[in-house]
Amino acid sequence: MSRLTDILSLTLPQLRESVEKLGEKPFRAVQIFKWLHEKRAVSFDEMSDVSLSLRKKLSENFTFEHIKPVRLLESKNDGTVKLLYELSDGNHIETVLMSYEHGDSLCVSTQAGCKMGCRFCASTIAGFKRSLEPNEILGQLYETERVTGRHVSSVVLMGIGEPLDNFDNVVSFLRILSAPEGTNMSLRHVSLSTCGLVDRIYDLSELDLGLTLSISLHSPYDEKRSELMPINKKYCISELMAACRDYFAKTGRRISFEYALIEGENDSPEDAKALCGLVAGMPSHINIIPVNKIKERSYRSDRASAMRFCNMLCELGANATVRRTLGADIDAACGQLRREYEN
Ligand code: SAH
Repeated sequence: MSRLTDILSLTLPQLRESVEKLGEKPFRAVQIFKWLHEKRAVSFDEMSDVSLSLRKKLSENFTFEHIKPVRLLESKNDGTVKLLYELSDGNHIETVLMSYEHGDSLCVSTQAGCKMGCRFCASTIAGFKRSLEPNEILGQLYETERVTGRHVSSVVLMGIGEPLDNFDNVVSFLRILSAPEGTNMSLRHVSLSTCGLVDRIYDLSELDLGLTLSISLHSPYDEKRSELMPINKKYCISELMAACRDYFAKTGRRISFEYALIEGENDSPEDAKALCGLVAGMPSHINIIPVNKIKERSYRSDRASAMRFCNMLCELGANATVRRTLGADIDAACGQLRREYEN
């Protein structure tokens, strides 16, 4: 028997089609959608202006499940909250709420585990279980707002998993998130981070959703990047940069590059020069992140080295900053909490 779809996973057009198939008027879909995504109902029973018979039909045709917070860590330094959620099949994912001057930002997971194999990343070491459904990505936003009482004003797809390896579900999530009848978040407030699935970047450009594309670059050299990130053996840096230029040409959105600085691996003046050469002429921003220590690897760096590398880039004319470190006291680089819990 195939599993039922969760009601929260349906975009408004999909919900309209389903409601019509159930023999109801299409406008009912907007009512139901508002209950789900604007009023954040947690059960069919709450939908008081939807007839009992339609509520019954919905409950027979769709699941309405909720991810469960099983651990919550809150930073005493800066209010960062890290949550471990359990999915209905017992898998676990992580979500992080960060506080910035412009509002709270939520970092969501898109897969339980990851198969991309980046050497420095804890999410991939713990292995890949499965991709998340749209309701499980949305659920991280809805449950985190409920549990913390805080309001999320922007979303980054930078948690566990490779968002472009779960393309259709991520796009449904984005469509539901931005629907005016629901949460109504402008996709200008959303960033999607990818290790560089070039074919999918072209697909994303075509959709022109208006979101910021973040590329995990981490080295300007193919040899070093392939060593750190196996995906580079499939799509090399020049192919990746061509896809970035196409993304900018089609969407007008400048590209953000993530660069995890690792001592002795990618932090030399030559690296800085080659990196500037790569992004020359492309509206972009480079985010330097001192690599987070994970216990399986000896990779290290610190804020001072990140600042030094960043200054080299700026002197060469690039637009670069060092990412603020948040929640240092609850650290567990992405993916570590899940691993500890599952062990
Ligand atoms: N799969 C996507 C998104 C998830 S990872 C991607 O690769 O972009 C989010 C970001 O964290 C990526 O830039 C990733 O390279 C980076 N990252 C992973 N492990 C890290 C670590 N130990 N230290 C610093 N950054 C890390």
